[in-house]
Amino acid sequence: MACRLCGGTQEFPVGLAAFIGWAAYRIPMQDAFAHLSAPEREYIRSRICPACWIAEFGTHPYHA
Ligand SMILES: [Zn+2]
Repeated sequence: MACRLCGGTQEFPVGLAAFIGWAAYRIPMQDAFAHLSAPEREYIRSRICPACWIAEFGTHPYHA
């Protein structure tokens, strides 16, 4: 999983079946990646890492 802005990679403990299921079969993200935090799911979906979110938009959408 590489950020499309900074090119950095970040590893997530995502099950391959869950990832394929989400990508190919449209399993709801909150179901496929229930064990991940909201920012981590957003990173998978948007391919923008949390650091770049802050750099680009000033604040993270899931920042409390
Ligand atoms: Zn980044």
